[in-house]
Amino acid sequence: MPELPEVETARRGLAPAMEGATFTRVKINRPNLRFPFPDNFAVRLENCQVREVTRRAKYLALYLDNEEVLVMHLGMSGSFHVEKLDTENIDGESLHHDRDRFAIHDHVIFYLENGKNQFQVTYNDPRRFGFMDLINSDQLANHKYFANLGIEPTGNSLDGECIRDLFTNRKAPLKAAILDQKLIAGLGNIYVCEALWQAGLSPKRQAKTLCTSSRVAKIRADKLADAIRDVIARAIEAGGSSLNDHRQTDGTLGYFQHRFNVYDREGENCNRKECAGNINRIVQSGRSTYYCGSCQK
Ligand SMILES: [Zn+2]
Repeated sequence: MPELPEVETARRGLAPAMEGATFTRVKINRPNLRFPFPDNFAVRLENCQVREVTRRAKYLALYLDNEEVLVMHLGMSGSFHVEKLDTENIDGESLHHDRDRFAIHDHVIFYLENGKNQFQVTYNDPRRFGFMDLINSDQLANHKYFANLGIEPTGNSLDGECIRDLFTNRKAPLKAAILDQKLIAGLGNIYVCEALWQAGLSPKRQAKTLCTSSRVAKIRADKLADAIRDVIARAIEAGGSSLNDHRQTDGTLGYFQHRFNVYDREGENCNRKECAGNINRIVQSGRSTYYCGSCQK
């Protein structure tokens, strides 16, 4: 499932083709994805120019010159394919033949013009849990998708002090607190497990234990903030290298096969140098947690 790094990777793939470009035609191949498309979706986009391709948590938000924002969510299996079209053959259908095996899941095709260049951006989503919406830009911050989102886990605003503020008085297990989208937005199960391992913190420890006045609590909060930012940054970096080969031949998503330290490694040796422990799996809030019982305290 696309997590924040994959969504950011998608944003970075879309921005060069779409920013400054105008939709010349939008083709939707079915009435809905997870939800119905907004009324007159294609018509409302046509002739609009994309000002900026942004991301908030796991949402892509494309600001248009008509003050609407095209919001897109990749759901469980959504991905984009960007093709620069030969201007001699601008409908692009002939470029499409090598993707016929996947075309049944190509639900939206955006045609764009950017100066002299023509692009085709195809949205493919086999499981159709993704969705697209058009929202007026001045209603975006208070929209149900965005109103309750916590802080972004990328960038410097997430530091130890911020974590201590967020987790004050929270008795929930640390893992549940980090996964709470109202506190930190867009972090999924895999990266939470990885960040906790990197910080050497147990997923079972109460979140509020990072908020006491002791020196060790402050160090733990700093370590956790560093680990979260680092895990996400490395995943985004790795994701970038998979852009050109986004789709595998069996039709599954070709996201970069991240090498994980704990995720999905039950029973294997801990990767930390000085640690002789094994990776355990427990279930917390209905999700698998992978961690090392020896070095994560
Ligand atoms: Zn260990």
